[in-house]
Amino acid sequence: MIDCGLFQGLKELRLRNWQPLPVSAASISRVVLTHAHIDHTGYLPRLVRDGFAGPVHATTATADLLKIMLPDSGRLQEEDADFARRKGFSKHHPPLPLYTEQDANAALKHLSPSKYGQTLQLSKTMSGRFVSAGHILGSGFAVIDIAEKGAAPIKVVFSGDLGRYDQPILNDPSTIEVADYLLVESTYGDRIHPQTDPKEELAAIIKRTVERGGKIIIPAFALGRTQLLIYYLRELEDEGRIPVLPVSVDSPMGVDVTRLYSRHHEDHDANMETVEKLPRNPLATNNFSLVHGRAGSKGLDSQKGAAIIVSASGMATGGRVLHHLASYLPDPASAVILVGYQAMGTRGRRLQDGEKEIKIHGEWVPVNAQVESISSLSAHADSGEILRWLKGFKRPPRATYIVHGESGSTQALKEKIVKELGWNAVIPTQTELVELA
Ligand SMILES: [Zn+2]
Repeated sequence: MIDCGLFQGLKELRLRNWQPLPVSAASISRVVLTHAHIDHTGYLPRLVRDGFAGPVHATTATADLLKIMLPDSGRLQEEDADFARRKGFSKHHPPLPLYTEQDANAALKHLSPSKYGQTLQLSKTMSGRFVSAGHILGSGFAVIDIAEKGAAPIKVVFSGDLGRYDQPILNDPSTIEVADYLLVESTYGDRIHPQTDPKEELAAIIKRTVERGGKIIIPAFALGRTQLLIYYLRELEDEGRIPVLPVSVDSPMGVDVTRLYSRHHEDHDANMETVEKLPRNPLATNNFSLVHGRAGSKGLDSQKGAAIIVSASGMATGGRVLHHLASYLPDPASAVILVGYQAMGTRGRRLQDGEKEIKIHGEWVPVNAQVESISSLSAHADSGEILRWLKGFKRPPRATYIVHGESGSTQALKEKIVKELGWNAVIPTQTELVELA
């Protein structure tokens, strides 16, 4: 089984998490995880609870990240079930979590970490390896070889999520030259990211806010966006383009993940390695704090003067960022910077759409702060970058399956691949069976 994620976002998708798998969990011999994001790993605790007993292959960084992320996901499932019980809207009586923190801890025991490039013996006829994908720390393409009698092995490549070129901290996506069958993601298959310089935009917003004496609140995903933001803020300070302000990372997971980002050198690009050699941390600014505990978090809101607070969740759907927003949205001198995709129905999207009041913890909060968006900070390749990666293959795969995208994105990417590369591109349907030969 390649990847084992949770459906996220719209309710009709999330309900799929409760449907039985098309095969029994016990019949699956191994799991291979391309990276730690919950939409690729979050079902694992349930799979183990339902009888999966084999090893789970992941890179060492992915395995380390999962030790933070899966128990957290279990806690969230338990909180959701609690909430449903209090509000009385669950169809389960009593409402049950999909899995618990304890289930997540049990699943972690199955992890089998490996280095990039290391050969994984998956069965008598199958072997695999991870090749760096540049999406988040530890992310890899899964390259699987299936031995054939009297013929060269069949090579199947799974992109997982494809990272971006020329971004700081992480390596660019590796080039892969050969695949007989390819599965490629298509999150942004219909889009090109804006070519604006995110540092330029950050600097301008920060300077304007400092002049007004306000606070800068940045809702950011703990894994990936938080580290990139800190890297850029440090560079801007070092280049004298913004004043040195107190910068606080306020999300329990963000703190732990930032430490892991510093530790895993195998994922670092040349820039990151150069600044790592300096006697200071590239993932910390000049007046920097990682906030521990709720008291420290609440204390941030009573500090005077301009400051930057980076806090999860990235779409303001929950987490500690909510009380910072409740404190500073009413303040016209302050600013909120949205740095990632804001899904429909989230508070982040409402702010982006210019709503004048939003509800936080049951109270209506007036939006007087400046709300800004920087969309060039995405971790996913856009359609141009996907094509750039595909052009690295020396010959067309026999079939390229376009996965992991909304229907508009998969369709747009399919048309591009057929038109620009002349490949056999296929949009598979759920549970479709395909014979490899
Ligand atoms: Zn991802």
